[in-house]
Amino acid sequence: GPVPGDALIDTAVHDAYRRALTHREGVVADYIPILGAADPEAFGLCVADVDGGLHEAGQTRTAFSIQSISKAFVYALLCEGVGHHEVRELVGVDNTGLAFNSVVAIEQAGGHPRNPMVNAGALATTALIPGATAERKWQFILDGLSRFAGRELEIDDEVYRSESETNHRNRAIAQLLHSYGRMRFDPAETVDVYTRQCSVRVDARNLAVMGATLADGGVNPVTRDQVVSADVCRDTLAVLAASGLYERSGEWLFEIGLPGKSGVAGGLVTIAPGKAGIGTYAPPLDAAGNSVRGQIATANLSRTLGLNVFASS
Ligand code: GLN
Repeated sequence: GPVPGDALIDTAVHDAYRRALTHREGVVADYIPILGAADPEAFGLCVADVDGGLHEAGQTRTAFSIQSISKAFVYALLCEGVGHHEVRELVGVDNTGLAFNSVVAIEQAGGHPRNPMVNAGALATTALIPGATAERKWQFILDGLSRFAGRELEIDDEVYRSESETNHRNRAIAQLLHSYGRMRFDPAETVDVYTRQCSVRVDARNLAVMGATLADGGVNPVTRDQVVSADVCRDTLAVLAASGLYERSGEWLFEIGLPGKSGVAGGLVTIAPGKAGIGTYAPPLDAAGNSVRGQIATANLSRTLGLNVFASS
């Protein structure tokens, strides 16, 4: 169908916001200590359409760390930089059916990370990012994420410190992959770059624009910058559809019918190909680590705006 009109999107955004606001299920993540300090009532919703229009409700300018949502965009940047064939072989595209930080998933696959949206695959992805040093890789990532967002993004130092002090499991995952010959860069340095990319500060509006860039063949709808190619967007969205919400990806696709990616700080980005990006922020999470209000609001928008990619009309 066509891109919904401005007035229709505005009404749908406010309605979805209001309805999701009544939901208080879920738990704020605190395995990264600083995340536990988030306001469980914080909630923002933004739709960025491919014409560059922004439709916002609630706290769309409240900053939070991007966390796992970075995985989607770093994967796209890598595919753009080195081509998806090499990435596919080394990182994979299939859902694990297990938690995002599962070690069992790696063992079951004989040391293969399975897909770039779980921590193992994201670490393997970050290791492959162009640049001979960790600093170069980090600059490549920060610059790329900023182009997706259409503004200079920055690291949240407090989040970076908090996660660096407690990310023992990610270090173990990187070492395990290394033991299977699947890390293409120093494991400890890769974890550090990955931790930095997860600590990048965004708001719901930034996520919406980043999503809209993937929705529009890689062209940022606000800056008109071609960030990645249309082919890279297609491949990235396929991976998100299969694994963007971890072991809940099937449920999500069935309910919402759109590729999306969640992060443990409470962010969620959803892509309606050819139409829009949806960014939400609401810290309480379901058992798989996906924002509860984000999912509810996005499901509502998908229905009222007719965004489900599997619908005939
Ligand atoms: N930085 C977090 C981690 O590696 C990201 C996890 C997430 O957002 N699901 O554990």
